[in-house]
Amino acid sequence: MSTCRCCKKGIPTTGARKCPECGHEFKGNGWDGIDAHWRSKHESVLPYEKFWESLCPEHRRAPSKRGRP
Ligand SMILES: [Zn+2]
Ligand SMILES: [Zn+2]
Repeated sequence: MSTCRCCKKGIPTTGARKCPECGHEFKGNGWDGIDAHWRSKHESVLPYEKFWESLCPEHRRAPSKRGRP
């Protein structure tokens, strides 16, 4: 019953975060820059707040590096 847009697109929960709409890879820490990216590119498709709310906890958090808890 997941409505997470990243899950729907089959984006892994590990590694760099990728935009589910265009595949843009976020090079920084986790989702750094997603708000500016989303608002400039996909705000017309879906408001950023809705997109963020749709994400499951696994996708919302920044990927842990080197097994850090
Ligand atoms: Zn997800
Ligand atoms: Zn995008």
